Amino acid sequence: MSAVQKIIDDGLGGIEHNFVTARVEDLVKWARSRSSWGASFGLACCAIEMMGTGASHYDISRFGMEVFRASPRQADIMIVAGRVSQKMAPVLRQVYDQMMEPKWVISMGVCASSGGMFNNYAIVQGVDQIVPVDVYAPGCPPTPETLIHAIETLHQLIEDGEIMRRRAATGAGAQVELSATLPSSVSVGLGTK
Ligand code: SF4
Repeated sequence: MSAVQKIIDDGLGGIEHNFVTARVEDLVKWARSRSSWGASFGLACCAIEMMGTGASHYDISRFGMEVFRASPRQADIMIVAGRVSQKMAPVLRQVYDQMMEPKWVISMGVCASSGGMFNNYAIVQGVDQIVPVDVYAPGCPPTPETLIHAIETLHQLIEDGEIMRRRAATGAGAQVELSATLPSSVSVGLGTK
């Protein structure tokens, strides 16, 4: 009796050996996309919608990301929720630099994406001037549904993207790199650009 016929006759009981094959790269990207934790970075009214997205009605724990982290070293995604003032910009960049690679950024709302209605000297006219943005969520404010759509778009980007994509290639990110000089003076150092 063929293996297929056994399954037809006996269902799952007809499978003698259970196994799954996959490429390590696909498994890593799948795991990354479903364990991405957000860095707490609510800046203005958009943050209320972000908090609503994390609450029970929308429940982003379905995507493995119900935990918003106060420590950037434990976070993968920075959701910039609200307008970015000139004074906050260096703080935002510092928090971003403290996040471990790989890391991603969602710009939530028109204020974060373009300055929105605040076309003045106090507000950064687009957070992409400070950090590299992966996904933009439109709206004022974006609804939780819009943010969830942005999150799902980012998850798809993670699954489709290069596993070893380095930020140095885009000129963004912490740009920490290893350098080695061999063999005359054997030394391995950790430096930043
Ligand atoms: S986009 Fe609208 S809701 Fe979001 S921070 Fe700006 S004014 Fe507030």
